[in-house]
Amino acid sequence: MRIVVLAGGVGGARFLRGVRAAVPDAEVTAVVNTGDDVTLHGLRICPDLDTVMYTLGGGIDGERGWGRLDESWTVKEELAAYGAEPTWFGLGDRDLATHLVRTRMLDAGYPLSQVTAALAERWQPGVTLLPMSDQRVETHVLVTDPDTGRRQAIHFQEWWIRHRAALDPHGFVQVGVDDARPAPGVAEAFAAADAVLLAPSNPVVSIGTVLGVPGLRPALLATPARVVGLSPIVGGSAVRGMADRCLPALGVEVSAEGVGRHYGARSAEGLLDAWLVHSGDTADVPGVDVRAVPLLMHSPEATRAMARAALDAAGV
Ligand code: GDP
Ligand code: CA
Repeated sequence: MRIVVLAGGVGGARFLRGVRAAVPDAEVTAVVNTGDDVTLHGLRICPDLDTVMYTLGGGIDGERGWGRLDESWTVKEELAAYGAEPTWFGLGDRDLATHLVRTRMLDAGYPLSQVTAALAERWQPGVTLLPMSDQRVETHVLVTDPDTGRRQAIHFQEWWIRHRAALDPHGFVQVGVDDARPAPGVAEAFAAADAVLLAPSNPVVSIGTVLGVPGLRPALLATPARVVGLSPIVGGSAVRGMADRCLPALGVEVSAEGVGRHYGARSAEGLLDAWLVHSGDTADVPGVDVRAVPLLMHSPEATRAMARAALDAAGV
């Protein structure tokens, strides 16, 4: 069985662990958001790819949800002692080795997809990890500068980590997206899939960014498989993270129904054949098979059952 999962960072990674547990023999391909990527201190950092790789490879700090277990922060402290900006981004010592290897390979001319495969050789995530694109696409957030009152676009990481999403987003722009194409293997994975799943990742800055790569959405819609999404909104709020800060900027209601309608029915130029909402939540999404099942990934078993429900809805 071949399964393709569109994923962001923490929500995507945890869900992928459930998929792997639900169908250990399946060939799983994860198409991962790279819109959060950033270059800091000369290093190329891919937060969502790394979260997925560390989570599935057993190297994640499970409490924090990102970064390495048993991490130390000596280099970050030393950089701060030099006043080397930015000082607000969490760069752990162990994590830095990943960014050093990645940056060296990129500088040598390898595309991100090949670099990702090389890094994954160490971690053996048990799924094929693909960046959404080999081209650089960086999400920027349109905000009003509180001091000057002027509108400006800041990098997603600056908005999220430095400002802790406190500035109201007016919108999101994907810098570089016009020149991007799906990474090698992405269209082929959709074409060969028995099920395509949209992880309960952020619908705007994770799934939305992946779908914004020119050519990716048509390739997804050409799949012979059923497309099943899982709601990241439970009881009217995001389980964690900033989806409830992002959705209003797009005029989407922060609810399982709002996100389901935003994705839309495949039969009506949207994406979904089926939409899973959390038990007790309701959603009316015309043309879509809506099912209510437990959607909280609070244990490996709960996450496995959630993945199983998604595969059931996909008919596999
Ligand atoms: P990020 O890149 O690290 O922000 O991670 P993702 O975009 O992959 O996932 C973030 C989304 O996952 C948030 O919108 C959360 O609401 C959602 N999420 C996190 N944990 C759970 C969970 O246990 N159940 C569901 N349904 N959604 C979750
Ligand atoms: Ca992310």
